[in-house]
Amino acid sequence: MKNTLIIGGGIAGSSLAIQLMKRGVGVTILDRGINHSSAVASGMVNPMVFRRMNLSWRVDEMLPYARDFYLELEDTLKAKFYNTLRIRRFFSSEQERGYWEKKQHEAEYQKYLTLHDDFDEKVPLAKNEFGSGIVKNAFWIRSKRFMEKMHLFLKEQKVLQYGQFEPAKFILEELSYDGSIYDSIVFCCGSDNDKIPYFSQANIQYNRGQILHIESSELSQQELWNRKGFILPVGEEKFMLGATYEWNEPSLNITAQAREKLEGVFKTITEASYEVYGQTVGMRPTVADRRPVMGEHPEYRGLFIFNGLGTKGYMLAPLLSLEMAQCMTEGRALHEEVVFSRFYK
Ligand SMILES: Cc1cc2nc3c(=O)[nH]c(=O)nc-3n(C[C@H](O)[C@H](O)[C@H](O)COP(=O)(O)OP(=O)(O)OC[C@H]3O[C@@H](n4cnc5c(N)ncnc54)[C@H](O)[C@@H]3O)c2cc1C
Repeated sequence: MKNTLIIGGGIAGSSLAIQLMKRGVGVTILDRGINHSSAVASGMVNPMVFRRMNLSWRVDEMLPYARDFYLELEDTLKAKFYNTLRIRRFFSSEQERGYWEKKQHEAEYQKYLTLHDDFDEKVPLAKNEFGSGIVKNAFWIRSKRFMEKMHLFLKEQKVLQYGQFEPAKFILEELSYDGSIYDSIVFCCGSDNDKIPYFSQANIQYNRGQILHIESSELSQQELWNRKGFILPVGEEKFMLGATYEWNEPSLNITAQAREKLEGVFKTITEASYEVYGQTVGMRPTVADRRPVMGEHPEYRGLFIFNGLGTKGYMLAPLLSLEMAQCMTEGRALHEEVVFSRFYK
């Protein structure tokens, strides 16, 4: 494979470009220049899925690879965006606490979970009636900076072009776009996948997320607090308070309802005082079976998709972009749970 056109330069498209470039493939990215998910995300890589209280999919492979990927990129992009993260989960009930106590001794959870410490006496403003547990080995990526630096690098490498994919310029039979012929074209359009005709069977849904940006001198700057939502310290007494999950809301407006909901979440975690100084919104590309969508179109050779990263783009994109590049350049099979053909009857 010599040259690839990638449509969409969010974390999916950009990570894939990096992996393909490492393999000597010539890459062009066409991106609309409006990024509604990767640059808005809080960028956490959390080994746990709190909603179901289990480990994230393939966490033992995904997490260490992602850490190395971002640390290596800090050198390449000449910027700092990787941060270690200690996550404190405040339990909502005795039952949840008991569940955690049991899980932390199980082999697969041991390196990610520990129980409460003497925290209660140190920070009286936290609402901590059932105790808390610590998630270890998490980290977070300063997403806005990461995406800005990534785009700068890809522009310098003459890989990234800003523009909208126009179907009229695309000839499927010869895999050409705007007069140039490619070996492969990969669609990494996030929640805008529904506007691309070839992969609509994946039925990627809109899951709007909003975040409040707050300031407080009373909150812990050392760890993230979580219960029904999260308060992530981002430095200088500033925090992200998130996030909402709003299904099938296609507009990208910030709303008063989301602000009210998030302020309600804050009050379930702590009595600290704070001020809101911003609100942002993004669209997660989410798939009904909660697995990404990857691989070649069963009918159209050379046409690929890499999408559906849902709520976990920062955890999944690094290793999945490697697996995608291996699939494209070496013909290696993808993980059976992610293949696009699962939608194609
Ligand atoms: C509020 C919020 C908080 C989040 N927090 C986290 C978190 O803590 N951790 C985590 O791992 N994930 C988080 N996520 C999820 C994460 O943001 C997504 O999984 C990830 O960004 C998806 O990346 P993507 O590249 O697929 O999509 P996007 O980032 O949406 O990128 C798609 C790109 O394609 C371009 N594009 C689309 N259509 C076209 C076209 N026709 N022509 C040209 N370009 C096109 C767009 O301009 C865009 O740049 C969060 C998301 C939200 C909204």
